[in-house]
Order: sequence, then C-alpha cells, then structure tokens
Amino acid sequence: MGQGKAAVKELEFGGPLGSVALLVLLPCTTLYLILLCGSQDSGVLSVPALPGGLAWLWDAQVFGICVAWMLFQALLYTLPVGHVAEGLPLKNGKKLKYKINAFQAFIITLATLGLAVYYGLDLSYIHDRLLQFAFSAILISLLLSAYLYARSLNKPESELATGGNSGKIFIYDFFMGHELNPRIGSFDFKYFCELRPGLIGWMVINLAMLHKEIQQGTGPSLPLILVIIFQFIYVADALWNEECILTTMDIVHDGFGFMLVCGDLAWVPFVYSLQANYLVSHPQSISYASAALICVVKGVGYVIFRGANSQKNAFRRNPNDHAVSHLKSIPTASGKRLLVSGWWGLVRHPNYLGDLVMALSWSLPCGFSHILPYFYVLYFLGLLVHREARDANQCGKKYGAAWEDYCNRVKYRIFPFIY
Ligand code: NDP
Repeated sequence: MGQGKAAVKELEFGGPLGSVALLVLLPCTTLYLILLCGSQDSGVLSVPALPGGLAWLWDAQVFGICVAWMLFQALLYTLPVGHVAEGLPLKNGKKLKYKINAFQAFIITLATLGLAVYYGLDLSYIHDRLLQFAFSAILISLLLSAYLYARSLNKPESELATGGNSGKIFIYDFFMGHELNPRIGSFDFKYFCELRPGLIGWMVINLAMLHKEIQQGTGPSLPLILVIIFQFIYVADALWNEECILTTMDIVHDGFGFMLVCGDLAWVPFVYSLQANYLVSHPQSISYASAALICVVKGVGYVIFRGANSQKNAFRRNPNDHAVSHLKSIPTASGKRLLVSGWWGLVRHPNYLGDLVMALSWSLPCGFSHILPYFYVLYFLGLLVHREARDANQCGKKYGAAWEDYCNRVKYRIFPFIY
C-alpha cells in the first residue's frame, strides 16, 4: 500500500523543509506578483497593501466561476472528439491510454467565449478581480492535492511515483505527488491539468487584459498584441502537439502532488500572464523596427523549441520514423538509444534553449523600465537549469556509461559554448 517501503533514494527540492517553503512560496509569490503588477509604485520590494486585508481575497462568485471553468474543461476532455494515444510503458509494462483533444477543447472554448463577449460578457471582470481568481485557483489546488494524497494511500507500490514516495514524510509526498497517474476510470487528473485549465485559462486572462486595455482607452497597443500573439502561438502549439507531453518528465516520472497541481492551475495562468497584466497598468510603446526584431527572436526560439521536442518525440515513438532515422544515436543497456546529432547533438537540452529564447521575446515588448515583466524569463532560467540537473541525474542512473558517452560528445547542457 501507499505508505509502504520508501522508493525514493534522494529527496529533491530540499526535502521536507524545501517542500514546506515551496508550499508557502508558490501561492504567496503568485499573489504578490499580481498585486505588484497592478500597483503604480514601481519598487519590487515595496510590498503593496491588500486593499481589504486577507478576507478580501475570498470571493464566492469568483470561486464558483473557477469551479465551473474546471468542470467545463473536464467536460470538453470527455467529449468523443479527437483520438486516443498510448503513453510510454509503465513499470508493470502496461501502457495507459490518453484522449488527444486539447486543441479542439481550445477552439470550442474560444468560440464560446467569443459568443459570450458578443452578447455582452465583460471580460475585464477577470482583470479587476485577478487576485481573487488567483486565490480561488490556489484553494482549488490545495483541495485537489489533499484529495490526490488521500486516495494515493490506498494505492499499491507499483502505482506510486518513485520521486514522491519517501515512505513516511507526509509533507514531501504531498508536495511531490505520491501517485504517478491518478485516474477515475479513464479520466486522468495529471494529464488533464497539465495543459487544459491552466494553459487555456492563461489565454482567457490575456484576452481579459486586452479587453481592459481597450476599455480604458490605451489599447489595443502593439506591445500587448505582440505578447498575446506570441503566447497564443505557444499555447496553441502545446495543445496541437498534446501527444508530445506523453514523453515528458511530468507525465513519465513525476507524481501528481501540490507542486504540479498548483503549478498547472495557479502558477501558469496567473504568473505567465504577467506581461499582459503589466502592460495594462504600465502602457508602453515600441517602434515597428523593434517589433520586427522581437518577432525574429520569437521565431528563432520557436524553431529550436518545436524542432527539438518533435525530433525527440518522433525518435522515442519510432526510431525508424523517416523524419529521424538519418540521425546518429548511441545505444544504451536499456535498449533505448540517445540522439547525438540533430538538435540533441547541439546541446543536451535544445528544447529548453528554444523555450528560454521565446520567453525573452515575451518580455521585450514591455520595455526596460521595470524588472517585473522579466520575472518569467529569470524564474524560467532557474527552473530549467534545475530541471536539467534533475533530468541529467535521472538519465545518469538510467543509462550509466552510455549517458557519460553522450555527455562527452555533447558538451553543453543548454547554451552552446556557455553552459
Ligand atoms: P524533456 O522533454 O526534455 O525530456 C527529457 C527526457 O528526454 C530524458 O529524461 C530522456 O528520457 C529523454 N532524452 C534526453 N536526452 C535525450 C537524447 N539525447 N535522445 C533521446 N532522448 C533523450 O523534458 P521536460 O519534460 O523537462 O520538457 C519538455 C518541454 O516542456 C520542454 O520544451 C520544456 O522547455 C517545456 N517545459 C515548459 C515549462 C513551462 O513552464 N513553460 C515547464 C517545464 C518544461 P528517456 O530517455 O527516458 O526517453
């Protein structure tokens, strides 16, 4: 059963202390950044006061909207549209099936929203109550994580996530995620939350910012249009290539606990929309030449990001696929091979490189007068450097000498000739 012998050998994220710290930091940072974004006082360390104290964060109507949003996305997930794909083999050799219809869910959501706005829905409501929305998303994350942890206690060892199974450190397992693939029937909680409510929610928040900008007479501005289009491309691409997440660390390795739940449902939509939020309260203007240059940065990042992710995904699914069969690879004792040419011969995580270049392009339209719109790039750099180290550690254990050989042949981790 779930509280059986510990499977995890080394605790990550600073163990129980790190888990407690992050449990507090993740929600507080989300709320703090939103508060700071709406304040005209530009100092990062000057904490703006909550207008109505802590109780002001709770809004029953907003909470209801968030719950309805989750249910609406869950309904779209279960619709009989799209196709079904198989995940990678589990420890027991079985493969789970996943519904691939996130892009259709996105289109239906946008169409529904468009209709609602046409009939008078005021999207700026979201902008005006963003803190309350974020607070509700954090509450939902806490409740969902508590449910997920409670149900994981009845699961056999084989269904637990290796990384979130410390044995008895409750807070660590709660944070890291005890169960690998929590499901009710074919409804997969982790897979559902990874892309849908958060990423699509992020786009709705961005549109709310546009609505607010137009309402207050400062928009639509070129910087906000660029940010919205860039981030739209990112989200549409992730949803279109939904199948690619089946080979990522989150799905294959990590359990579904507070770290991922809060990341998916609160952090992503409310922190990733920071640039759009910032532009509403701090209007900027940029020249067409600067805009063109920023588009080039976005384009370069996208080509690297998509090329790398698609190459690895195609290779993992079928190494003989004509798109990847010409690439050089090295064998490992596990039977899997590691790519050493193409994007994965440039650096060990070309997908992270592309993602970071794109992240920079989202901040540049916000100008250079404040560090706040650059929060995402800086945080993301830290996240991906840490994630790369985690992945390298796992791959070192998985592939041994073959991984060392790969590292000798591909010297740099993320940035060619730098790191
Ligand atoms: P990756 O998709 O990079 O997957 C890492 C795995 O790929 C390794 O564990 C290994 O797994 C396999 N692999 C590593 N090297 C090779 C190689 N040379 N040849 C073949 N396979 C290899 O991991 P992530 O889940 O971290 O990232 C997926 C995407 O999501 C990235 O683009 C990342 O930038 C993005 N991301 C975005 C976030 C955001 O908040 N916006 C957050 C986190 C990630 P195995 O060998 O077992 O197949």
